[in-house]
Amino acid sequence: MNSVFEIFKIGVGPSSSHTMGPMVAANRFANRAADLIGNQSLLPNQVRLSVRLYGSLALTGVGHATDGAILAGLSGCLPSKSQTEEIASAVKTVRASNQLALAGHQVIDFVEARDVHWLRNETMPEHPNAMKFQLLSSDNATQPGQILLEEDYFSTGGGFVYDRNELLQLISNKTSSASNTAASALPYPFISAEELLKMCSHSGLRIDQIIDANERVMRTDAEITEQLDALWDVMKRCIDRGCQTSGLLPGSLRVPRRAPRIFRQLTSRSPVTLQCPSDLLQFKDGGYPFTDPLQQLDWVSLFALAVNEENAAGGKIVTAPTNGAAGVVPAVLAYYMFFMPGANRAGMHRFLKTAAAIGMLYKRNASLSAAEMGCQGEVGVACSMAAAGLAACMNGTIEQIENAAEIGMEHNLGLTCDPVAGLVQVPCIERNTMGATKAINAARLAVLYGDGQHFVSLDRVIETMRQTGVDMQVKYKETSLGGLAVNVVDC
Ligand code: SF4
Repeated sequence: MNSVFEIFKIGVGPSSSHTMGPMVAANRFANRAADLIGNQSLLPNQVRLSVRLYGSLALTGVGHATDGAILAGLSGCLPSKSQTEEIASAVKTVRASNQLALAGHQVIDFVEARDVHWLRNETMPEHPNAMKFQLLSSDNATQPGQILLEEDYFSTGGGFVYDRNELLQLISNKTSSASNTAASALPYPFISAEELLKMCSHSGLRIDQIIDANERVMRTDAEITEQLDALWDVMKRCIDRGCQTSGLLPGSLRVPRRAPRIFRQLTSRSPVTLQCPSDLLQFKDGGYPFTDPLQQLDWVSLFALAVNEENAAGGKIVTAPTNGAAGVVPAVLAYYMFFMPGANRAGMHRFLKTAAAIGMLYKRNASLSAAEMGCQGEVGVACSMAAAGLAACMNGTIEQIENAAEIGMEHNLGLTCDPVAGLVQVPCIERNTMGATKAINAARLAVLYGDGQHFVSLDRVIETMRQTGVDMQVKYKETSLGGLAVNVVDC
């Protein structure tokens, strides 16, 4: 949780906790199982797999494409490395053949209806998003039904996955001071906003420079630059693709994509032809061809809609810090890049590093998992991160940036997670537009109309989010058992 590239990851939709996490977990287990089969010279027909999904994963996993993610991960796919077509093809192959090439190696029987178990009434105490993978001896073995390998994994939000030992270590690190953790290998190990701000004051560095110094322990300058550019490139392409792709989103709700229609509406009165939102870059230093003073906010909503419709369709996105909330940071960053005078690549890097610093604080001191925190832990955190990123690009002081991040969360506290039909569509897609516009408002309030002095600190608001998440009823935490999910008819 110390790297920008753990908070921002290139992945696939629709969910970081329910799609990306399970795919990574399945991939990890598949590799271990394939090694064991090879080392023990077992025949592929002597083994079979069992996958058990618990809690929130079982309750909303169908709508979140957890089943396909498991099949793809077992077949060797990874969200960071595999193209969406490759993932779809792997899933199709398993379902058509009832066979699976384990981590791309041994071909074993795998009957999804028999081997994947949805345990909707069971949870593991460690985390609501739990999975159990087993490699068993099959009926062809001399002793059928024996457990050859068993591992539990936990998908804790934002695409982070831990086995049991790793999770326990993480929990223990959370209760340690920074100097006692792996973070001590970093020049600036911070665990709270207060510490981060003190480090900035003592060193004279900005937040993004603190992050940069830490990041250099893990990567070269060239790698950092290249990976930041890649993040913005994926975000920008996602916005463009979302504005150019029409049709219905997958799933029972048959939700139509709105971004292409809004893009056409926004550009219909433009004196110049715009093929996609990236064409707005030509006006960034002046000459913006629209007269409605609030139309830039409409664009921001469009950017967020476009990304989240792509996410809902299983497209390539940047987890920021989760997939359900993947539209907020790109929309606000696009606002900076397309509309703010003087915006440039260095500013884009500064935005992402500052936003990531705020994401790290939430990850460490609360959670990015909607199954633990509700939507305040997804769209709320994304709003807070984006507000800080934009405030940094507006040359806010460190106190103003911290204030922007705090405002971004303060007015998302208590936000529940209640996706209709278990799909990451309603209210998720539109909610990202609210998160993005709120982030811009927060940054402007903090930087243009504030002096950095404020009543509620970022650390206090993060702790308040955590406590609110703990107190929130389970039916509002990514289970689709309450809220809109039960008051809107799925037909
Ligand atoms: S309601 Fe919020 S937290 Fe829940 S799935 Fe949708 S975006 Fe994610």
